[in-house]
Amino acid sequence: MPGIMHILHPMAHKPHTCDYCHRIIKVGEKYEKTVWADDGAVHTWRTCQQCHNLLEKYPLEDDGDGIDNYDFYDHVSNLCNERGLDNQDMDAEEMVCALLKEKK
Ligand SMILES: [Zn+2]
Repeated sequence: MPGIMHILHPMAHKPHTCDYCHRIIKVGEKYEKTVWADDGAVHTWRTCQQCHNLLEKYPLEDDGDGIDNYDFYDHVSNLCNERGLDNQDMDAEEMVCALLKEKK
């Protein structure tokens, strides 16, 4: 497990890519930045607002070795399947949008 972890909520000063859905975080957009140190290396993980909202609504359990974009992709695929959403041609970003727009 990571030793030191910081979670920041900066405003993007240059475009970044969301590490979960790979959409572009535009300049001026707020995002979540997780920084941790591991064996002397510093890692950064960026989460866009949409993925953040999705994970608040549908939390993804950490299976012990952290959550990566593959776990995230499986998670949103499962959520789409459970809801009968047709995700055949959707990428992660589109699935996140579809799930967030979904009416209860
Ligand atoms: Zn995202």
